[in-house]
Amino acid sequence: MSLLVRSIGELVTNDPSLGDGSALGLVRDAALVVEDGRVAWVGDASHAPATDRVIDAEDGAVIPGFVDSHTHLVFAGDRAGEFAARMAGEPYTGGGIGTTVAATRAASDGELRANLARLRDEALHQGTTTIEIKSGYGLSTADEVRSLRVAREFTAETTFLGAHVVPAEFEGRDDDYVSLVCGEMMKSALPHARWVDVFCERGAFDGDQARAILLAGMGVGLLPRIHANQLTHGPGVQLAVELDAASADHCTHLSDADVDSLAGSTTVATLLPGAEFSTRSPYPDARRLLEAGATVALASDCNPGSSYTTSMPFCVAVAVREMRMTPAEALWAATAGGARALRRPDVGHLGVGAVADLSVLDAASFVHLAYRPGVPLVRTVLLSGEPQ
Ligand SMILES: [Zn+2]
Repeated sequence: MSLLVRSIGELVTNDPSLGDGSALGLVRDAALVVEDGRVAWVGDASHAPATDRVIDAEDGAVIPGFVDSHTHLVFAGDRAGEFAARMAGEPYTGGGIGTTVAATRAASDGELRANLARLRDEALHQGTTTIEIKSGYGLSTADEVRSLRVAREFTAETTFLGAHVVPAEFEGRDDDYVSLVCGEMMKSALPHARWVDVFCERGAFDGDQARAILLAGMGVGLLPRIHANQLTHGPGVQLAVELDAASADHCTHLSDADVDSLAGSTTVATLLPGAEFSTRSPYPDARRLLEAGATVALASDCNPGSSYTTSMPFCVAVAVREMRMTPAEALWAATAGGARALRRPDVGHLGVGAVADLSVLDAASFVHLAYRPGVPLVRTVLLSGEPQ
């Protein structure tokens, strides 16, 4: 079965060998052919071959599906009250995670699945076609395993985040909890996870604990990523680079040495502007990272405490307006950057051979994602070439 997407006013391929030669690989007046779920042909609309089916983009822009490389979608309950209190002046401390842990433990598998399905659909209809999902609101072996099992029903990009915070029942016994995470919990999580993550932060896990947890995960075959330098400066970014983690996420408080280390590595700096927006905190310095040559990704950090949005278009708009990324840099970071942060060469671009995950926009240019914030511009989403 072949499919033609025709009348594309502006096609973003993220393949610099195509079109205008920029990082976005822009092709004007383009068409794209899908065969067996993959991009089979890209080119000038007037040269498009015949296919079994046709989708007309009506001169709108077509972009690669967003790759949201950082979410926490397995949870129950919400924390709207905490958000309102924060907007009234209370600081964000991360302490509210315990509220979600209690609600998540009390929920049935069906409730967790239904909540996740709702959020996944929200993301999909805003153009997210690849999504990473973390555990981390179970914090017991059984609750972490079931969180990952539910997440696996929705994505291959599942991340074991047993080291989110130390749960209340281990208060004052951090090292016992780290031993549990590195041992029984890691072993039980393994069949359901691709990645291992840790919240390396004052009040969560320090550098030595984070190193022990990531090394334990790597020892059994999980790939490392890390919550680093979000609320304070810490050792997380250096640890990420040392361990060749796919991604260091947040990167809000960086030293010059951290920026240089990221720029000289294959570790992606994943920025999560929804978190700063929702906690009314200073944004990470995207320009400093980009100008140093680091690879930057944008992700939603969707979670009920500090960033309850599934919208990658929103993240792109905030990154442009508040972090001074150009619209082109922000779109690249939300697609190709996310793919690098998940080490997925098959997604995040629309070169020949890529998975045919894409969005047709109700706009003449991808620039409208930032230019028209809050407007639902994603008209049609294709997942492996299938309209959703
Ligand atoms: Zn996170």
